[in-house]
Amino acid sequence: MQEEESINACLHCGATSDRVVLLQCEDKGTLRWVCVRCLPILIHGGH
Ligand SMILES: [Zn+2]
Repeated sequence: MQEEESINACLHCGATSDRVVLLQCEDKGTLRWVCVRCLPILIHGGH
């Protein structure tokens, strides 16, 4: 099994860029991806 880092998916919902627009962000020094739908949720601190 190889790492699947090359497949970018939203860290919150797992959607890929085939379905949604993904934005790259950095969390504690790690690059992650978040989709435009989940970005507002993360900004507001989730539930
Ligand atoms: Zn998402």
